[in-house]
Amino acid sequence: MSGWVAVAGLGPGDEGMITVEVREALAQATDVVGYIHYVIRVAPREGLTLHPSNNRVELDRAMHALTMAAAGKRVVVVSSGDPGVFAMASALFEAVEGFSGVVPDIRILPGITAMLAAAAHVGAPLGHDFCAINLSDNMKPWKLVEKRLRLAAEADFAMAFYNPRSASRPHQFARALEVLLQVCGSERLITFARAVTTSEEQIVTVTLGEATPEMADMQTVVIVGNSATRRVGKWVYTPRRAG
Ligand code: SAH
Repeated sequence: MSGWVAVAGLGPGDEGMITVEVREALAQATDVVGYIHYVIRVAPREGLTLHPSNNRVELDRAMHALTMAAAGKRVVVVSSGDPGVFAMASALFEAVEGFSGVVPDIRILPGITAMLAAAAHVGAPLGHDFCAINLSDNMKPWKLVEKRLRLAAEADFAMAFYNPRSASRPHQFARALEVLLQVCGSERLITFARAVTTSEEQIVTVTLGEATPEMADMQTVVIVGNSATRRVGKWVYTPRRAG
């Protein structure tokens, strides 16, 4: 049987949010590759080798997956959420560009990304035009992050922010909140959704005037509404019309 690579999204945490397609790929796999926190979500079984690795070695991990698949293995590369959202799918194609062997069959298996799970649990804050921005400056300069978030806010998009704040860069999210406050004003709704769909889920919605940097960490996805986003009962939603 010839080898293949599937890059699969495990969803935000809840078992029920893993698609049937991803389950089937995992059931057929000989090898699972990925960041250690995601690989431990895959149940060990006879005939399956788990290859957990550190988060900063995406390209090596992708190369490893391609090499094993080219040698006949059935490899699943796991990401949390969706593999195409700030995750391993792009890393795999980057590896393909530098791969000298015969490129194996590749499939990308979508998953439920954090912002969509968070939006569903709070109501419908992304119900009109929106964008997603990764606030980490590991892969791009902070200047570019700030430019994108300012322009998105000026264009009145609702916004979802991934990787908002880590111990190694605690000040940047404070700066992001400053820019948002400047452009959107103090009454704009902001939702901090932490560990969504897990037993540790915590979701809080406040105004930008009330928001503090400590409300976010690396397990949080932050959603800022557009100028029409409002509360109805315990929910937050963005109307489908604008202008
Ligand atoms: N591919 C993933 C995102 C990876 S980047 C996806 O599609 O969801 C990692 C960031 O995703 C985290 O810093 C956090 O901002 C967000 N995230 C992932 N899982 C989450 C969850 N269960 N709850 C809240 N945010 C989450």
